[in-house]
Amino acid sequence: MDVDYDVVIIGAGVVGLVVARSLADRKFDSVLIVEQEDSFGKGTSSRNSEVIHSGIYYPTDSLKARYCRLGRELIYPFCRANDVWHSRCGKLVVAQKGQEDDLDRLYRQAQANEVPEIVLMSRKEMETVEPEVSAESALFVGCTGIISAHELMAAFHRYSAEADHDLLIKAAVVGADPEGDHYALSVHGPGDASYQVTTRWVVNAAGLHSDDVAQFLWGSDRKGRPVLRFSKGSYFKLAPRWRHRVQHLIYPLPDPVHDSLGIHLSFDQGGDVKLGPSAEWLDDRKEDYAVREEDNDMFYTDVKQYLPALEWEDLSPDFAGIRPKLAASEDGPSDFYIRHEDDAGYPGWINLIGIDSPGLTAAIAIGEDVAGWIAEGR
Ligand SMILES: Cc1cc2nc3c(=O)[nH]c(=O)nc-3n(C[C@H](O)[C@H](O)[C@H](O)COP(=O)(O)OP(=O)(O)OC[C@H]3O[C@@H](n4cnc5c(N)ncnc54)[C@H](O)[C@@H]3O)c2cc1C
Repeated sequence: MDVDYDVVIIGAGVVGLVVARSLADRKFDSVLIVEQEDSFGKGTSSRNSEVIHSGIYYPTDSLKARYCRLGRELIYPFCRANDVWHSRCGKLVVAQKGQEDDLDRLYRQAQANEVPEIVLMSRKEMETVEPEVSAESALFVGCTGIISAHELMAAFHRYSAEADHDLLIKAAVVGADPEGDHYALSVHGPGDASYQVTTRWVVNAAGLHSDDVAQFLWGSDRKGRPVLRFSKGSYFKLAPRWRHRVQHLIYPLPDPVHDSLGIHLSFDQGGDVKLGPSAEWLDDRKEDYAVREEDNDMFYTDVKQYLPALEWEDLSPDFAGIRPKLAASEDGPSDFYIRHEDDAGYPGWINLIGIDSPGLTAAIAIGEDVAGWIAEGR
């Protein structure tokens, strides 16, 4: 049967866009991206730290470790070739008194994950490279960087537009039915319009709603289905007096209770410094992006430990993002769910669920795998 598109991608965040870019590379021109917002990149992809992660943290056999390493290796050359702003500034993970063993464990995990350019530093060595920072010891990671997430997404979108892909905005996919060798997607919008789109392949890149979109297919009572928890991360910005005073990203040791990297210091293209993200479970799964002024105390207390010259008045609320977390168990580390659901009886349906950090870093590697699977089945 004739279908409207070869591939429909649900969601135009960095993940949906990079899949489109990899499909464009493989000469796919019958591709539709459906996005419920009024342009691409309005979700989690523009509410994050914009860090190119090294991959030191994740269990060695996890998808996060694999895709972070491959994605990092691919992202720097992509940025250079496509004029995407980035800086390979490096980072320091700092340990305070009593945390030296934890830092050592992290160093061994980084080695196991084959992360290059890692060096353990004494207090004295660290103070020479970063005089504003105070810690007993530190782990230097040279391959960490920062990037403009918006420029990265705009570059992916350029490839997709040049390949004549369609981007449908202000429209949400609200249902899906398998029909023989294809899927019929129910779409609502723009405005009151409701209609069906048929396609051979579906890529579910719906971010915070990717578990709901998967349910269109297999319902809500399927055993073992991926279910997301929302973890809100707020940021505070620092006063202009902090611009260019710190040369590396500064991280505390990770916080295993919240499965987060801890409140770190980073900076952007213009040198403005931000602190964050915090980590707070949102049990009602509401997209609440408000940053509470009263959290100033918590940010100040946490960061003052490694930035002694910080003053309470230096901080002001900035923005927040929400991590779509897929935890193996209540307290276990989360991982990505990246799967062609062929084995589950849904050939042509690819789920990308729980793509929280380091999703931005990992994007190009994810896009390459997904487009590769689709090209193989062409
Ligand atoms: C606080 C925070 C800090 C982070 N820091 C980093 C970092 O420093 N480095 C890093 O590598 N990663 C980081 N990440 C992770 C990274 O931001 C994400 O992994 C990445 O942005 C996920 O992209 P996405 O395309 O899957 O999701 P999104 O950007 O959320 O895109 C999904 C899109 O799908 C659309 N959508 C949803 N449902 C539907 C529907 N039914 N129909 C149509 N459209 C739909 C949404 O509107 C949205 O635009 C961070 C995340 C957070 C929250």
